[in-house]
Amino acid sequence: MKYNIAVLDGDGIGPEICAGAIKVLNKVGKKFGHDFVFTHYPIGGCAIDKCGVPLPEETVKGCLASDSVLLGAVGGYKWDNLPVDIRPEKGLLGIRKAMGLYSNIRPAKLWKSLSGASPLKDELVKGGVEIIIVRELTGGIYFGERGKGEEKGEEYAWDTEKYSVHEIERIAEIACALASKRTKKLISVDKANVLESSRLWRKTVHGYAAKHYPDITVEDMLVDNAAMQIVKNPAQFDVLVTSNIFGDILSDEAAQVTGSIGMLASSSLGDGTRGLYEPIHGSAPDIAGKDIANPIATILAAAMMLRDSFTLTEEYDAIEGAIQNVLDKGYRTADIMQDGCVSVSGSEMARLVAEEI
Ligand code: NAD
Repeated sequence: MKYNIAVLDGDGIGPEICAGAIKVLNKVGKKFGHDFVFTHYPIGGCAIDKCGVPLPEETVKGCLASDSVLLGAVGGYKWDNLPVDIRPEKGLLGIRKAMGLYSNIRPAKLWKSLSGASPLKDELVKGGVEIIIVRELTGGIYFGERGKGEEKGEEYAWDTEKYSVHEIERIAEIACALASKRTKKLISVDKANVLESSRLWRKTVHGYAAKHYPDITVEDMLVDNAAMQIVKNPAQFDVLVTSNIFGDILSDEAAQVTGSIGMLASSSLGDGTRGLYEPIHGSAPDIAGKDIANPIATILAAAMMLRDSFTLTEEYDAIEGAIQNVLDKGYRTADIMQDGCVSVSGSEMARLVAEEI
């Protein structure tokens, strides 16, 4: 089977980590008899340098014509002082919008052999942690009406959190479907004791789950409590669904519980099977070009693409198992280095994972 994959390497460590993921995908292709065809398109800072805009037309067309998209990361010091409209991050928001991606799924998994990397006490994480955060991606306060002005000589500014039933139901569908394939427990996070939009969120999630997924249990948690529970008892979470802003904050917190952002991937999906798969970290300009960036997050992002866009579950398992074996053998990139382990470069890590498949 042939799969066309658009690769948006982006800036900083983006090209290095994408190269690592491609190496692993090629090995999977060889072993399982798939033909992965990669076409690279510019996005972010490198697109600004090449085409004058962070998201060139050819990139949008290429992504929409592909079966799925792999992204490295965008941004860097060089473009930090450009006007907001042509900043690298605009490319990211633009491609999510152009592809109609309204859900962001971030699994925060603590690998057994890396449990020492978690900042939490051993007793809290020894049973393993895997929190799958389903974040609404195209609504809420980041996209609501906003403004600024001046009143009685004082500046003011405002943003609006607004959600429709349709927006909540479509993210509830993604979260419920995931939960029903796993522990059948869904935690919905909101601030319903204060916000009207959260009260609609809560009512809609419950209504949708009861009608379409009667086999799952939906539990509500206020966002302030959720922030506390993630560090107090992370093992209680499996699938968590929440709004754009709460998901943004909680997913970084959950990521930190696992120790290294170099190990975590995310997927953004819309109505079809085509998705955007990327590591959760940024372009790490401080380590770019040194071959020390951990490619595992991007390799896992590529694995998620196989499972969630192409339904290649066995291939996903092969990549996850290979990563586990490489970690169990004691190989580590600098960001996850532990006493007694073998230090390897980013490209060596990718080669070891590919070899293990
Ligand atoms: P960052 O995630 O790039 O880096 C934070 C720290 O983590 C740095 O010390 C970095 O060296 C380290 N790190 C990140 N990825 C790593 C990896 N794979 N292996 C080892 N170490 C790794 O965040 P930042 O420094 O706040 O941002 C740098 C740039 O990235 C900024 O321009 C920011 O806007 C951009 N950014 C892009 C995305 C994206 O493309 N999705 C996300 C976040 C930040």
